[in-house]
Amino acid sequence: MKKVLKALQIKNINNGVSTGVDSWAGSGKVLSSYSPVDGELIGKVRQATKDDYEKVITKAEEAYKIWREVPAPKRGEIVRQMGEALRANKDNLGRLVSYEMGKSLQEGWGEVQEMIDICDFAVGLSRQLYGLSMHSERLQHRMYEQWHPLGIVGIISAFNFPVAVWSWNAMLAWVCGDVCVWKPSEKTPLSAIACQHIIQAVLRNNNVPEGISGLIVGDREVGEWLSNDTRVPLVSATGSTRMGKAVGQAVAGRLGRSLLELGGNNAIIVTENADLQIVIPAVVFGAVGTAGQRCTTTRRLILHENIYEDVKNRLVKIYSQLRIGDPLDTNNHVGPLIDTDAVNNYQTAIEKVKAEGGNILFGNEVLSGEAYQSGCYVKPTIVEVTTQTPMVCHETFAPILYLIKYSTLDEAIALQNGVPQGLSSAIFTLNMREAEQFLSANGSDCGIANVNIGTSGAEIGGAFGGEKETGGGRESGSDSWKNYMRRQTNTINYSTQLPLAQGIKFDI
Ligand code: NAD
Repeated sequence: MKKVLKALQIKNINNGVSTGVDSWAGSGKVLSSYSPVDGELIGKVRQATKDDYEKVITKAEEAYKIWREVPAPKRGEIVRQMGEALRANKDNLGRLVSYEMGKSLQEGWGEVQEMIDICDFAVGLSRQLYGLSMHSERLQHRMYEQWHPLGIVGIISAFNFPVAVWSWNAMLAWVCGDVCVWKPSEKTPLSAIACQHIIQAVLRNNNVPEGISGLIVGDREVGEWLSNDTRVPLVSATGSTRMGKAVGQAVAGRLGRSLLELGGNNAIIVTENADLQIVIPAVVFGAVGTAGQRCTTTRRLILHENIYEDVKNRLVKIYSQLRIGDPLDTNNHVGPLIDTDAVNNYQTAIEKVKAEGGNILFGNEVLSGEAYQSGCYVKPTIVEVTTQTPMVCHETFAPILYLIKYSTLDEAIALQNGVPQGLSSAIFTLNMREAEQFLSANGSDCGIANVNIGTSGAEIGGAFGGEKETGGGRESGSDSWKNYMRRQTNTINYSTQLPLAQGIKFDI
């Protein structure tokens, strides 16, 4: 890991305190980043103080004045170079993400690949920030709309995607002409600092201001500064519903805009017409991938009564064969949870669901021994329930899968929709009527609804996000870019008269 940190220019100075880098040099309290993989201290950084925060915002304001004047395709060209720089750093950045967050190496690299993909998407977008033109009802008048940047976009991100979610926001915001200030998760600060170095080098090479990409390392309080700051017109926040409610209220209180990407409680419906050959890998990957710490993790499996026992038995068998351990070892299927607090949440959730009548079919164990010295490794767990109890309706960020039986598709869809969250959903069926009902207006109420694909693993080309307590935000592909811009409607009169709209006469 030392070589990786060196390559990403993360230096420890003063006996390991502060990263001592030009692009991040906070002066607040020390934040230590421990790896959930082996419990080792990776590095220490200083958090932002209010003074540091003010400096970053001032730099961002200055940078915005320059950046908004750069033609969008030229901004796209700089984002293209960011994509190239990420390609060059993919191996090291992916390794750091895996080690600091605890996801598999393949997923760490996959996360960096998503960053590269969104850069490519944003480059094309930089030539497609289209507005409509309309026919005016008045003679010799022209009407059209155009899109302008907003200013400073504040990005608050969660630990489980330490770098990709930031890039989904930042790359789009940059081609739109905004500047960004990023408050990464306090659990993964080094991955954020590594990204900052990569981006700053590109900005320097292009002779554009550093303030285009601002970083403020710190905890919730630093996020609150962003939410309450009227100089930040848009706050894009990814994390728990609890956090989203706080950010949403703070931003709404000053009539700013927020883009909220919050918790999910995703279900797969498996009908009696499903191809079980593809169901099983989709469910296992969705439920145990990233140790159940994806917003799109499969948490509920709604099974038709005719296939219930078969699927249940197959899953229990596969779960007993899963290899749990160091996620940087590609032989392992399941890595650690982020920290011991997450382990406690896993245990508490299982105890509560047992008290609610849940029947544990597999798992419910915290692993110990040398290979698990960080104390963050747990066994993926399967629980059988007869109704959606309060625990089933709650997002526990751990690999706990609830199995529920159904008999009619209407009942299955009602179960699928019967939770407060609305992020991702899926149906497995080869029956066209079942699939179309699930996708119809009286089908899934989620932002993402898939057929014969699991709930996790979205592509960047689509708009990503969910409804209800997931927050309603959309980012990444499709027309999500509109969130980062303001629309202006323009009417131009090139006649010699001043006709008023709606035929109103005003004689003077
Ligand atoms: P979290 O809510 O604890 O923290 C997320 C971020 O918000 C952190 O940077 C944190 O410092 C900051 N924060 C916390 N409280 C805040 C406040 N009051 N004001 C401002 N900032 C605040 O979430 P987490 O544990 O890091 O991540 C897991 C959660 O994120 C899960 O609920 C998961 O579903 C969700 N998530 C959602 C998506 C999505 O796109 N919908 C993607 C990834 C993660």
